[in-house]
Parts: sequence; C-alpha cells; structure tokens
Amino acid sequence: MPELPEVETVRRMLATAIPGQRIVRAEVSNKRLRTQALGTLPKKLERRVFAEPRRTGKFLLLDFADGDTLLSHLGMSGRWLWYPKGREPDESLVHVHLKLGFERGGTLWYEDVRRFGMLRVVERDQLSRDASLKLLGPDPLAERRDGEALRAAAHGARTSIKSWLLDQRKIAGVGNIYASEVLFRTRIHPARLAGRLTADEWARLAIEIPLVLEESIARMGTTFSTYRTIWNEPGQYGDQLLVYDRKGEPCRACGTPIVRMVQTGRATYLCPTCQPRRATTTPKTVRPKEKRLAR
Ligand SMILES: [Zn+2]
Repeated sequence: MPELPEVETVRRMLATAIPGQRIVRAEVSNKRLRTQALGTLPKKLERRVFAEPRRTGKFLLLDFADGDTLLSHLGMSGRWLWYPKGREPDESLVHVHLKLGFERGGTLWYEDVRRFGMLRVVERDQLSRDASLKLLGPDPLAERRDGEALRAAAHGARTSIKSWLLDQRKIAGVGNIYASEVLFRTRIHPARLAGRLTADEWARLAIEIPLVLEESIARMGTTFSTYRTIWNEPGQYGDQLLVYDRKGEPCRACGTPIVRMVQTGRATYLCPTCQPRRATTTPKTVRPKEKRLAR
C-alpha cells in the first residue's frame, strides 16, 4: 500500500506536469472505487485548470485554479499515470477508472486494480470539514513534532506503539513498511505500549520518523507490487529496508534472523535482539549504510 513517501513522490512528479493544464476531456469507468460511483465526475472536471498539487498524509489534494479540489487516495493499488503530449497511453491497462485529456496535449490516467482508492471533487469551502481529512493527525513532514509533543499525544495510550504509528488520527502518512523500519531504527519492540515509552524513546522516534520518510522520498518510495511513479517506474527504496519483508534474513546490525509477527492483522518485522521487550538504556539508533542510488 502506498504510504507517505510514495504519495509524496507522485505529488512532486505531478507538480512538474499538471499545474496550468486545462482539462478538456474526462472519462470514467463504470466501476466503483470503494463504494463511490464515478459517473458525476466528468461534469465536475471538464474545463477545470489544475493548480499546484498538495499532499497531507496519504491524501493527494489536486487543487484547481478556481479553488475546488480533486481529492485522491491511492488505497491499496492506485496509480496516477502521466503521458505527455506525443506519448501514447498504454491502452492494454484494463483497470483505468479516470482518463483526463488536456487542452495543451497530454493525458493523465488513474488506474486502480483493487479499487480501494478515492477520487472526489470537494468544494473549496468544504475542504476543511471533509470527513476524510478532518480526522487526520499532523503530517510528519509538514508539521514536525519533537519527542515531548509525540509523548504527550500518546499519553495514556494502551495500544501498541506499532498500532499507534499506523493510526492516521495520531500521525498521518505512516503505514506498515515505515512503522516497522522506524521501530527497528529506534530499537523499540513493536508490541510495547505507546503510553509507556520513555522520553528518550520518543525523542529517537521524533528524529527517525521524518528521516526514514525523507530517505525513501529521495529514492521515489518503495515498490512491492503495484506502486509506480507517474512515469510507471518502481520506487527504489526497497533495497534500503532494514527489516520489512526480510523474515529469516540476518539483521543488518547484529546478524540475528529477522522475525515476522502479526499485530491486529498486520505483519510487523523486527529483530528480537535489537528490539528487546523492555526499554533499554543508551541504545544506538540503527540506520542503513549509504548506498549509491541505482541509475
Ligand atoms: Zn539485530
């Protein structure tokens, strides 16, 4: 599932392609995204001009120059695909649910095999009250919190720290991959209670959460199966992952085989040696060794 780094990669690329572009054609499939029928979208989109795209958490806010917003979530498998003028769209794709054609040429498609994504036009004065956005917690890149602020936000929480990091009301944009990575880097066992972490552990989390997200954005995110950039390229952060999807492989810090556990239905990967069940004193943060970007 795309998380903050993948959505931010898409946003940055869309920012080079769509601002100032006027939609002259909008076609939708007859399928639903989650429960939403798309039939009314073309009328709401035609003749609109895109402004700078924004992002909060895992949501893309594709603003129009007139103030309204095309609100988009990639769900499990959503992709925005951009075909500049002169490049033919891939007509073999069968799960395309929105096709936009622009006055200056160029085509933007939304493809979503599993259809858990979202596409809605939200009016300017409704955006702050929108049901999908109003419950979101702070975006960890746009609104940085120090260890004390995070600790205060988790005060008394009786959920595990892994579940707390996945809760979009607490922190918007972190998902399963980066929660596993952050907890390994900070050497915190994923099953520990969020409300019981020490000030020192929260201080480490406050540093590592934005850092791992930024490192991933620099490599266009992580691709396991479906995520692609708007140029249909996979992300390149996968070979930097320290624990996620590495069950049985040696920990890159100590050599202990990585363990996979299931918490509230989600897989979590950890090193049982580096991430003990109890808070440890003076543990060192673990980070990936710098590797050159593949070109
Ligand atoms: Zn280890």
